[in-house]
Amino acid sequence: MYSVPAYATPAADAALAPHTITRRNPGPHDVQIEILYSGVCHSDIHQARNEWGGSMYPMVPGHEIVGRVIAIGDHVKNFKVGELAGVGCLVDSCRTCEQCQAGDEQFCETGSVGTYNSKEYNGEPTYGGYSTQIVVDENFVLHVSEKLDLKAVAPLLCAGITTYSPLRHWKVGAGQRVAVVGLGGLGHMGVKLAAAMGAEVTVISTSDSKEADAKRLGATHFINSKKPDAYKGWEKSFHLILNTVSAPHSYDSLLPLLKTNGTMTLVGAPPTPSEVVGFNLIMQRRMLAGSLIGGIKETQEMLDFCAEHNIVSDVEIINMNQINEAYERMMKSDVKYRFVIDMASLKG
Ligand code: NAP
Ligand code: ZN
Ligand code: ZN
Repeated sequence: MYSVPAYATPAADAALAPHTITRRNPGPHDVQIEILYSGVCHSDIHQARNEWGGSMYPMVPGHEIVGRVIAIGDHVKNFKVGELAGVGCLVDSCRTCEQCQAGDEQFCETGSVGTYNSKEYNGEPTYGGYSTQIVVDENFVLHVSEKLDLKAVAPLLCAGITTYSPLRHWKVGAGQRVAVVGLGGLGHMGVKLAAAMGAEVTVISTSDSKEADAKRLGATHFINSKKPDAYKGWEKSFHLILNTVSAPHSYDSLLPLLKTNGTMTLVGAPPTPSEVVGFNLIMQRRMLAGSLIGGIKETQEMLDFCAEHNIVSDVEIINMNQINEAYERMMKSDVKYRFVIDMASLKG
């Protein structure tokens, strides 16, 4: 074991503050990574503040990790010292159940191990990317292209895969109309990826000020959902609605925008339930669905797709000690479009 500086929150109602954690020495299958950049996901806020329940403290959030390999175990086959590496939301799973075998480790029947706010199978707590180093089994480490701007790659490890996976699952492509609800970290990646896949993209946002950005990111249309009659003329328009909203809101106002047989998939995970009027689904055989991050193989596929299409996140770089302010700004939808922590600021 060795010590690593980190930022942690000690309790649901506390701010994040400097903290020291221990990491395991790399075992035979482990990759030791110096973390260079760590993205800030809204799930970090939900969990740090125990909005979903079950949070464990002290908590070191962060599951959008990119850095360089500084050591490898004797049996590591796929990584070399000095290479770039990424770590997303998962650091282990049982690897044998039906879901793991299918490459959907996020749905592991034993329960996969999250990068933070989780426990390894040996009972040790996991700590995330708001720290200077991490040690992860090579099967859960991703290859990152040297071609892309590294700091803007970090958000792909969660925001990228969480939007890529449902777009692939619902076979988005040319000739399809996709609406992305909420233009934050996930939403802006959803727009870029759906547009790169050939779909016509519409952004549905509460922030009028984001219209020009939505179009720059690849959207053709923009709907300000706060306007009265915002959805007039948009009924039965979309094959897929990718709903990334982090706060409770009405699903019923969005469902009528789906075509017959259309799907609204939730990726945004508001902490409290929303009612749904069955008729909005029944009348056009619409579906309300959900999607959780993506498996390791698909995450690599997404990173390779982004390298091929030159897609990265739009980021605002912050120092580690600006994290509490960044959380407050995200709560006001004031982020364009992902905060990324420069981990050099934690080394001191
Ligand atoms: P974010 O950057 O804070 O963006 C959320 C966006 O939602 C805001 O920018 C805003 O966009 C919109 N919004 C916020 N409050 C709203 C309200 N009251 N009504 C309508 N729209 C509102 O968050 P994020 O990191 O993209 O994460 C979004 C959600 O996805 C979070 O709940 C997060 O936990 C969840 N998540 C889920 C997965 C998964 O695997 N399913 C993975 C990662 C994250 P506008 O300004 O455009 O309205
Ligand atoms: Zn996330
Ligand atoms: Zn499994």
